[in-house]
Amino acid sequence: MAVTGAKEFKNYIGGEWVGASSGETFESRVPATGEVLGSFPRSGAEDVDRAVAAAKHAFEEWRLVPAPERGQIMLRFARLLEDEKQELTELMSREMGKVLAEAGGDVQEAIDMSVYMAGEGRRMFGHTTPSELRDKFQMSVRMPVGVVGAITPWNFPIAIPAWKLAPALVCGNTVVFKPAEDTPLLAERFIELLSESGLPDGVVNLVHGYGEEAGARLVRHPDVPIITFTGSRETGVLVTKNAADNLKHVHLELGGKNGIVVMDDADLDLAVEGIVWSAFGTSGQRCTAASRVIAHEAIHDELQKRLVARAEKMRIGPGWDPETDLGPVINREALDKIHSYTEIGSDEGAKLLTGGEIASDGDLGKGFFYRPTIFSEVEPQMRIAQEEIFGPTTALIRVKDFGEAVRVTNGIRYGLSTAIFTRDVNKAFRAMRDLASGITYINAGTTGAEVHLPFGGTKDTGNGHREAGQAALDVFTEWKSIYVDYSGRLQRAQIDNVE
Ligand code: NAD
Repeated sequence: MAVTGAKEFKNYIGGEWVGASSGETFESRVPATGEVLGSFPRSGAEDVDRAVAAAKHAFEEWRLVPAPERGQIMLRFARLLEDEKQELTELMSREMGKVLAEAGGDVQEAIDMSVYMAGEGRRMFGHTTPSELRDKFQMSVRMPVGVVGAITPWNFPIAIPAWKLAPALVCGNTVVFKPAEDTPLLAERFIELLSESGLPDGVVNLVHGYGEEAGARLVRHPDVPIITFTGSRETGVLVTKNAADNLKHVHLELGGKNGIVVMDDADLDLAVEGIVWSAFGTSGQRCTAASRVIAHEAIHDELQKRLVARAEKMRIGPGWDPETDLGPVINREALDKIHSYTEIGSDEGAKLLTGGEIASDGDLGKGFFYRPTIFSEVEPQMRIAQEEIFGPTTALIRVKDFGEAVRVTNGIRYGLSTAIFTRDVNKAFRAMRDLASGITYINAGTTGAEVHLPFGGTKDTGNGHREAGQAALDVFTEWKSIYVDYSGRLQRAQIDNVE
């Protein structure tokens, strides 16, 4: 069912496209122009309940479909994404705002994840281990859990749903998906393609709506044993509390305040490339964005000069224009929040080197554009060095040596991604050991995860789980240990084998 281009979109429940039971809707807008892309159901508890009932019913059959067959469906989904990559890329540059190269990367990540998880359908390894008793066999296997509630942000609108739905489905769970309210059209296309790849009705369900309404109901629903959530720390805390009454499994991927260390022996040209890409790519709206640069005093001033020169050359414009380096931020609220941090930084005594203002000349005034912003003279405890801004703003912090660089980099509540530029192999290995984050890059920026490695962070970035790679299977399955006694007698572990 090709519905793109139409103006009113629906939920997908039990294999049918249906409106919200209240009849209420909300709109998706292009952040570069304010143009309306379509209206979507503003779902409430009743809609979520119907979706959960459909997913619960479908689970009883889906869990029995052999995992390699479930993997085949994921492979078909990957091929459909490949066929539609261009269209999805262009749509993403409109609905979410990122530039074409990054939007293409977002879609590619979903393709890669679907292919990877398709293969998992033929692995999903368990363990066998010898028994302490004779004539007894034992093994542990992964079991699906049931209905997964997946709640996603807008900044990776195709990739993040794939990180969650591909492993959840291959593992034999069914899904109710509540996408971000800023990118519902991409979620709609994602689910259309997923349903075209041959999933039985009810295995995947889409419920649009606001977090506090549809999202909150999903989190509290007693028939949803797993919540997989990516978003802000504040919402993650709320989700955890609301899920606690039902002792749900809660998988959280939250914010970051990622730092790039540049040592005195670094290749500065390379470091500048890495910082510009990580700080200003996706207009700084990545969980792995480098919003701090921890620079050794010996190269600090030179690095600062080169960074400012690069930032000032960046071309601001709509994501779909191939000339654009920096697209819009997602909405007015985000623009105001980013600008408020410029004021906070200046009030705290940091030095604004460039940017620090809303870009509104000509057509830019119709959208939400912010100039790439760099502060220097930033102290590690300042709010601009501690809090997630989620915009094209980065803070330069001067340090004396490697030890101080590690202390400053680690001196935050988050622990998602860190990076170091150095040519000294000893410092590189110390950084791999000592930087307190789920991801560390050596001689690259803080972004660029590949789907077959675990993705996630330490400290307040999450709650100990990881997305992607083999680690994703731990989120979406539970271990079952099975003992088979073929002795014909009642053998008692820990008792009958002790003389
Ligand atoms: P957000 O927390 O505002 O919203 C995320 C999702 O949660 C949305 O779908 C929203 O509707 C829903 N939601 C809001 N309130 C809810 C509630 N009470 N109950 C249930 N659901 C609710 O985050 P955002 O602004 O969409 O995304 C930006 C944040 O996401 C940043 O903090 C960023 O670092 C983080 N992020 C993290 C990762 C990661 O993997 N660690 C990846 C991307 C983004």
